[in-house]
Amino acid sequence: MKYALVDGRRREAETGLQGVCQGCGLPMIAKCGRKRVHHWAHRTANCDKWGERETAWHRNWKNEFPEDYQEIRMEDLDGDVHIADVRLPNNTVIEFQHSYLPEAERRSREDFYNPMVWIVDGTRNARDVSTFADFLSVSSMYCDEICGLGLPLRPIKLVDNWIRCVHPVYLDFGDAEFPAIEPPPERVLWRVREARTYRFVATPFLKQSVIDHYTLGSPLEAYDFRRIPRSDPRFG
Ligand SMILES: [Zn+2]
Repeated sequence: MKYALVDGRRREAETGLQGVCQGCGLPMIAKCGRKRVHHWAHRTANCDKWGERETAWHRNWKNEFPEDYQEIRMEDLDGDVHIADVRLPNNTVIEFQHSYLPEAERRSREDFYNPMVWIVDGTRNARDVSTFADFLSVSSMYCDEICGLGLPLRPIKLVDNWIRCVHPVYLDFGDAEFPAIEPPPERVLWRVREARTYRFVATPFLKQSVIDHYTLGSPLEAYDFRRIPRSDPRFG
């Protein structure tokens, strides 16, 4: 975790600092080594069973949001406690998910954090990136209220894992470049959703606009498909 309570205040890990977990109140160890991002760890198991190993990817994402919105303790009526990666003033939670989640697990988090948004690390498996690129290169334009690239029935494991979520899912492929959306746009996140005609539709949104949308309420800005040459067969 990025924060622990030191004398009642949220503090980042520093060598020699003593803190307690804001979830369970037990002492935490400040881990300030060279290999991983500095973080706090429980002496035994993490009280939040949903907690993931804090990677640079998680940390960078949390840091895109104001500090007061990061790592917020949440408790439901049954007394279950979890730490939301980010919780906005309108109570929407943003979860940054690096590893695979079984469906039941995903559902219980969606229930607990309702309303919420998923941002999923698409770079965990190199194969996912290349499969997604392959998919885009044979996709066709699909537009309803917003345009995206769609494809019927073709198994893409990463997408399959996330497509049935109730809440919005954005895949983060980092700096990966996809020929399908040349010229390369500013960094984008791919929102994936089910659609009627297609098995799923992937829409690239400018990463900054996604952050601004959830933080400031500004409109989401989709990647401008008009930048794709009209000669592109996908317009046929
Ligand atoms: Zn704890």
